[in-house]
Amino acid sequence: MIDTGPDFRMQMLRAGVRSLKDVLYTHTHADHCHGFDDLRAFYFSSREEVACHVAEQHCPDFRQRFSYAFEDTGYLGTKPQVVLRPFTSKAFKLGALTVEPAFVPHGHTETAVFKIGRFAYATDFKQFPDSLIHKWRGQIDTMVASAIRFGQHPTHSCVDETLALFQALAVKRGYLTHIAHELRHAIDEAKLPPHVRMAYDGLEFEVDL
Ligand SMILES: [Zn+2]
Ligand SMILES: [Zn+2]
Repeated sequence: MIDTGPDFRMQMLRAGVRSLKDVLYTHTHADHCHGFDDLRAFYFSSREEVACHVAEQHCPDFRQRFSYAFEDTGYLGTKPQVVLRPFTSKAFKLGALTVEPAFVPHGHTETAVFKIGRFAYATDFKQFPDSLIHKWRGQIDTMVASAIRFGQHPTHSCVDETLALFQALAVKRGYLTHIAHELRHAIDEAKLPPHVRMAYDGLEFEVDL
């Protein structure tokens, strides 16, 4: 799982996800982590803590936002049973997968983006540094990346910028996510190159990992 946004519970119910071991967090903004409390449900069935992989520099904020889960508050109800696993830009293993994190600027913070095999996921970034483009270029078949709207935004990549990123990385198939209400799905999707589509709730695709 990447991020637990406010819709996390509904998303998991709709997709019929019955077990969850690991969550990779991109950053600690509310729209990416405030579904955290619903991780409780997975412990009920697995009796195993869910590993929350949070960038080392985001851990203090993550702990503060969800302090009730990390401190002994004496609360007798069920808290999310999680274990915090800080990560750096060093690649790490999740079962059979190798996760390659990198950090990119996003306003006053930076966001973790992930490459897993020939798949990459990047949301909430302004731009990729040249060094990362050089490193990942030609290595990605499918990429999900944010594009908040047409035009400009101070902390987010917009459609033209994300399309340029896909091109710079030589991505074979791109999906735009984190799209705001200014984008009209069918009308604006028609303006995209054929290998780039707008993502939507429930979208499924296969990737080589
Ligand atoms: Zn966001
Ligand atoms: Zn954000």
